Amino acid sequence: MRKPFIAGNWKMNMDSQSSVELIEALAEGLDKIDREKVDVAVIPPFVYLAAAVKAARSSSVAVGAQDMYFEPKGAFTGEISSYMLKDIGCTYVLCGHSERRHVIGESDELINKKISAAISGGLLPIFCVGELLEERESGKMTAVVERQIRAGFAGLNAAKAAAVTVAYEPVWAIGTGKTATPEQAQEVHSFIRKILAEIYDETLANQMRIQYGGSVKADNAEQIMAKEDIDGLLVGGASLKPAEFLGIIKGSIK
Ligand code: PEP
Repeated sequence: MRKPFIAGNWKMNMDSQSSVELIEALAEGLDKIDREKVDVAVIPPFVYLAAAVKAARSSSVAVGAQDMYFEPKGAFTGEISSYMLKDIGCTYVLCGHSERRHVIGESDELINKKISAAISGGLLPIFCVGELLEERESGKMTAVVERQIRAGFAGLNAAKAAAVTVAYEPVWAIGTGKTATPEQAQEVHSFIRKILAEIYDETLANQMRIQYGGSVKADNAEQIMAKEDIDGLLVGGASLKPAEFLGIIKGSIK
């Protein structure tokens, strides 16, 4: 059975004090939740990562970064490598979040290099894919998601692929208050698992976790997580409020 994995992407929000307070509130709330039943991560902005790792140290909350560069070190002003993130205690890193694809302009090829470098640096990538509304409406959804998945895993052997969590996040559902129905999400999750089985094999595809993301809240988490191929949630806005995020975590335990 795949263990549910809930991650909170803080995006460009919070400050040094509220970051620590949020993690402390989560750690306290998680004390009452069976740690064997769910994995939880927070994904703060770079500048708050070190404080977040310290605040999370004696809890079951893992910490991830929102992005990284694929080179290990060197003359890349403004960039952060996987080794640096690992060095300060990060476990996860987002690769290819839709805001990086569509606002910053990251390509499939760049995202693939980041995924590969993340694993080489000892991090566990959360690899985001998902279609735009016009792509869904013009019948291109599966072609887009398949292209993103095949490009993201290009050149990764099975051992490396096993380190990856896929996050299906339809772009039209991110930060919009519009959630995919559990059936819409399940359809794409099962499609992604089928592609993973084609690239690798069924055994590995059945072991890999696929999160859903897009306007998840405490009152819809349980319904979404009830679907067979939905193994976790990537949560944006609702992860900034401890009670809401804890409600999502509780609702996700299968
Ligand atoms: C996200 O940032 O990945 C996300 C899903 O955001 P939200 O939950 O706010 O839609």
